[in-house]
This record gives sequence, structure tokens and C-alpha cells, in this order.
Amino acid sequence: MAAVALSALEHMTPHDLVTYSRCPHEMELHRARQASARTGSDIAPKTPPGTSPERHSPLFSPPMHGVQVFEGRIDFGPLDRLIYLDRGETGIPVLFSPEQTTLDSRLGDSNGTIVDEELGFAGRPDLVVRRVDGDLVPVEYKATHLFHDVHGFHGRTFDTIQAIAECRLVHAATGHRPSHGVVLYGDSAGDGRREGWVEVAYGESEEHWLRAALTQIRTDRVRAPVPAERNCAGCEPNKEGRCHYAATHYDPSLRAATGV
Ligand code: SF4
Repeated sequence: MAAVALSALEHMTPHDLVTYSRCPHEMELHRARQASARTGSDIAPKTPPGTSPERHSPLFSPPMHGVQVFEGRIDFGPLDRLIYLDRGETGIPVLFSPEQTTLDSRLGDSNGTIVDEELGFAGRPDLVVRRVDGDLVPVEYKATHLFHDVHGFHGRTFDTIQAIAECRLVHAATGHRPSHGVVLYGDSAGDGRREGWVEVAYGESEEHWLRAALTQIRTDRVRAPVPAERNCAGCEPNKEGRCHYAATHYDPSLRAATGV
């Protein structure tokens, strides 16, 4: 099969994947807004006028067999090292001292973005930690509490997609395949009783899912709306009045509560 030129690949981010998994039209509205800001001209979303709403995103589920949930404070040790920090992200707690920090120049371009040129994919985990056994672990930090509702707005599908995407970025940048990624819920209220984390295994089946998901999104020319209260109440384009399909009003308390 002829190689696809990199420039032909529609650029994607972990945020795009997560958003598409809820509502493809939300992803498309985000991307149209970004493209308009970048080019200075009004870029219309791909979704054709009159598109019928769908009940679910067409994205097939990521593998969930390697997902583990832990309650309490995560067990980073004195011999673990912080090797990447998203300096553009505010609110990440200081988990490593300067002596435990050895930034890896392979992670992140001059803007701190980790780029996977093969897949046309790029993003910024909050942290990457090199554990004492040499494993590299991307960490997505959420200031909220660990969610137990696996079907909710911010449940295990979000965790799994985010962690798989960040593992792939670390793998692409370093050549080292992380064994897993982490989504860390760091609500410090209650002296750690509300904290927790989710570990998502990253193996060949997860990488295969990611490659297939990117292809699926890029070949979706409709990017249909999925209007549902669980999606629309936390949708930024809905907040700005840019979606004609919204099932409910934007609810800022939901976004603040979930930290998405
Ligand atoms: S308001 Fe609802 S249907 Fe519209 S883009 Fe947002 S999530 Fe999708």
C-alpha cells in the first residue's frame, strides 16, 4: 500500500479522541474554531447541515481489560524521577522535588508538545515519571475526586482513552513502550480519602485500537451530533451557543465538578 504523506494526515490530539468518544460534532466544532483562529478566516465544521443526530458516538470502545482502579494516594517513591512536566498547565501539584527531577529532552518540542509524526498525533501529558524499574509512566492529573460511575460524563472510557493516547506519545518520542498510563485524581480534601488513580495497561491491543480509532475519525466525513444531557451539559461549544442540536443547557457546575 502506498505510504500516506504526513501532511495528508489530519492532525489529532488526545483531546480530540476523548471528545469524539462523547460527541463527534463537539470535536468538529472545537476543531473548526481552532482552524478559524489559526487561519483568520471562518472555517465551517465538516458536519453537513441537516445531519441527523445519533444516540451514540460511532467510536468503538477501547480495550478495558487492562484497567485497574486504586483508592488513596499514589505510591511514587524517592527513587522515581519526574522526566516531563507540562509547564503550560496550572494546578498540577508538586509531587517531585528538584532532586527528583531529570527532564528528558526527547519529550516535548520547544513548546513542550510531544509529537508522534508517524500517526500525525500530538499532545501534552501533565507529567511523565520514570519509575525506579525504568518504566516510563505518563500521568494525567485531575484535581477532582475519583469517579466510580463508569458510565458517567467522566468515567472509565475517558480515563482509558486519555491514558492510551499519552502512552503512545511517550512510546513514539522515546522508543520505550510504557507498560501503563495513569489518570490521577488528586482531590486533597479529606486527607487523601478522596484521592485515587486509574492505571490503564498499554500493550499491542491498545496501540492497535488507537491506530484504528484515528483512522475512523479521519475518515468520518459527518461527525454527527450526539445530543444527550450527559454530553451537552459539559460541552464548551454549547456554552457558546454554537450547537443547534443541544439537548440541554450548558451547566458550569458540572464542568467544575468533573474537571474535564
Ligand atoms: S451541545 Fe450536545 S450535541 Fe451539540 S456538540 Fe455539544 S455535546 Fe454535541
